[in-house]
Amino acid sequence: MRFGAIVCPRCKRARGIILTSKTTACPHCGKKFKTRGLKVYYKTDSAKELAAAVGKLNESLHGTGKE
Ligand SMILES: [Zn+2]
Repeated sequence: MRFGAIVCPRCKRARGIILTSKTTACPHCGKKFKTRGLKVYYKTDSAKELAAAVGKLNESLHGTGKE
């Protein structure tokens, strides 16, 4: 299974998705969007790597510390 790290187009938070799914919903703002056409920042087969990549992406987007 291929995972990808993407950024929600509405709230700009990173999250992990399964790349084969056509649509996904953001757990933060609830927006539903198509995965196709989104920029995928990181691709991996490992859920563990994905979680790390999403964490780093959120850090770079929003900084460390509280939300
Ligand atoms: Zn969102």
